[in-house]
Amino acid sequence: GPAPEGPQPALDWLESHGQAFGHYIDGKWTKPGDTFASENPASGKILAQVSKGTQADVDAAVKAARGAFKGWSGLSGYERGRYLYAIARAVQKHSRLFAVLESLDNGKPIRESRDIDIPLVARHFYHHAGWAQHLNRTFPDHVPYGVCGQIIPWNFPLLMLSWKIAPALAAGNTIILKPAEFTSLTALLFAEICDRIGLPKGVVNIVTGEGETGQAIVEHDGIDKIAFTGSTEVGKAIRAATAGTGKGLSLELGGKSPYLVFEDADIDSAIEGLVDAIWFNQGQVCCAGSRLLVQESIEERFIAKLKKRMATLRVGDPLDKSVDIGALVAQIQVTRVKDLLKAGASEGAVIYEPDMDVPGQGCFLKPTLVTNVSPANSLVSEEIFGPVLVAMSFRTPEEAVALANNTKYGLAATIWSENINLALDIAPKIKAGVVWINGTNNFDAAVGFGGYKESGFGREGGREGLAAYLKPAWEKALKAAPTT
Ligand code: NAD
Repeated sequence: GPAPEGPQPALDWLESHGQAFGHYIDGKWTKPGDTFASENPASGKILAQVSKGTQADVDAAVKAARGAFKGWSGLSGYERGRYLYAIARAVQKHSRLFAVLESLDNGKPIRESRDIDIPLVARHFYHHAGWAQHLNRTFPDHVPYGVCGQIIPWNFPLLMLSWKIAPALAAGNTIILKPAEFTSLTALLFAEICDRIGLPKGVVNIVTGEGETGQAIVEHDGIDKIAFTGSTEVGKAIRAATAGTGKGLSLELGGKSPYLVFEDADIDSAIEGLVDAIWFNQGQVCCAGSRLLVQESIEERFIAKLKKRMATLRVGDPLDKSVDIGALVAQIQVTRVKDLLKAGASEGAVIYEPDMDVPGQGCFLKPTLVTNVSPANSLVSEEIFGPVLVAMSFRTPEEAVALANNTKYGLAATIWSENINLALDIAPKIKAGVVWINGTNNFDAAVGFGGYKESGFGREGGREGLAAYLKPAWEKALKAAPTT
């Protein structure tokens, strides 16, 4: 039979839908309408046709979510928790299919989708199943927000879906979710899972489409809350569009996270951490450690070791289990990264790429290191969202903090030092939603994740993430209040 990580089961699943998808609204699939192609960025092959959600589709989804709200929010948290457990188990049961489909659609290495993305998705639903069961005791004076519109990016398609859907469901909300146009397929498989486990119809509605569909969701009167993850530019537009409407809003936007290496750091571990920080998911990570700040006394040695390590990274077929760096999500992102590098080089940056083989076709880029930059260089200030690390040096801890904070973003930071007193002194001085010490990219459903400044506001995960989908039960409180 085919190798476990082979593409066939995923291709068979697409075939079972005739490689053309409508939306999942009110527990039913709509007929495919005006469609666009979803491509495999590693091969350029078309995987399926996906429908562009129209105003009428969004209207229908909002109507379904409204209709389902009373029943869903009226269930006890215990009962909702049972559905979340069922979703978690179904994701685990079909984890291989999800992982392969994710790698085909997004280009990420199977090792990441199989060992990181999909297990974290299941973990997120399990965690929030627990919250649902404890909700009445933990938040006795709160009620669900209502109907939530959720718009997600393409870098972690199913994981971002779980970050949005799990807490919203646990809290008793109903949902219209739009996946990113490059990566709709695992969201559509997820819809099928919801259907199979018997989630009441209308509770989760998946409407696919491009920015216009997202805009129709943002502007819809029947939606109580918008949750968005994506570019800072679109995030700002959504904030403007929802201002004054009374809609709730959370934004998780871009980043340019610093990765600080002090002279007393364990250099080999710091290099492995850095590989993970910037080349995980081809660097298409909002919290990617994309700005290396290394202490001047070890700079030369560190950069030399880093270049050697870069040359050993394997770029290629995402379904090959030994591949470290897969394909970027689409050609337009490859062009974007190349244009940014060109602009940075014209401002004086030195661009290094190891001498290595990469596939001639598909959206592949080599791991890239940028040196000889001043803080004014656009490669230092702009989010690249690709496999590009920008390196600078500092002399003193004070200078390190100043450089780390010299950004419009504030999502994450990493500190590498064997001196825990130094690390603990520096950490709170960095304005970032999360600061990791001697580690990086540590996520857990129990810990709130989110940013400061132009990285957005609101937290996902943990108690705060759940609270964002609840509101005070003021009507209930008023009724209960003494009248004299
Ligand atoms: P994007 O912000 O354009 O898209 C994110 C989501 O928003 C998609 O589902 C998209 O269809 C939708 N959308 C687009 N325009 C909209 C609008 N006007 N109203 C409502 N929804 C709209 O981001 P992108 O095109 O996926 O990527 C562009 C850049 O964004 C990247 O290069 C990167 O810098 C950044 N990005 C950040 C994150 C993150 O997690 N912080 C994730 C992906 C991309």
